Parts: sequence; structure tokens; C-alpha cells
Amino acid sequence: MGPLDRETAKKLFDHYRNHRDGIRNKPEMASVCLICGSIHIVPKAGDDRMLVCRDCGFAFYRYTCQACGKTVDGRDPKNPGCRKECGVRICTCGACGCSEESEGVS
Ligand SMILES: [Zn+2]
Ligand SMILES: [Zn+2]
Ligand SMILES: [Zn+2]
Repeated sequence: MGPLDRETAKKLFDHYRNHRDGIRNKPEMASVCLICGSIHIVPKAGDDRMLVCRDCGFAFYRYTCQACGKTVDGRDPKNPGCRKECGVRICTCGACGCSEESEGVS
């Protein structure tokens, strides 16, 4: 996936700010900050499930579900936070950090 140009990023930003359902299914949204519209998104240090905006500092979950392989995005209303112990997001398949047995989640 190449870098987004400003115009595309602006369109995605305008659309998904008001239509958050579907963010998880849009690969380009991994590179757009929904707070400030920046495309300077980098992996968050110390947490490989999170991305962070270099311009405004907003961090969000975006990772691949271990159970089904779909993308989970914390900004999407279909990926609500788990209220039990894992604290990460719940995939549309129902899996979250609670269902992981390998890979210690710190
Ligand atoms: Zn931002
Ligand atoms: Zn899943
Ligand atoms: Zn959980």
C-alpha cells in the first residue's frame, strides 16, 4: 500500500468522521488520523496493536484478529472495547484479547 495523497486522505477523513462503521474494512484508514486528518501515522512504541498519529498524538487500536484474520479498528463502532480483563477491542467474530492463549499480552 503506497502513501496516501492529501486529497484522498481528506476525502476519507470527511467521510469516516461521520460514518465510523466501516473503518475496520478500509485499509487506507490505517494511515488517516480521525482526529486531525493527518496521514503521519506510525506504529506505537511498545504496543504492536496500536498506531499513533505523529501530529496530534492520538493513538488507536488497529490490528489483525488472531482468530479470524479480519482487521480490528478501535475507532469502528463494531469493534467495541472489551470490558473484561484484556482491555483490547472485540473483533466482529467475537474474539478479543481474552480469547488468546499463546503470546503473553502484557
Ligand atoms: Zn492526528
Ligand atoms: Zn476475528
Ligand atoms: Zn477481552
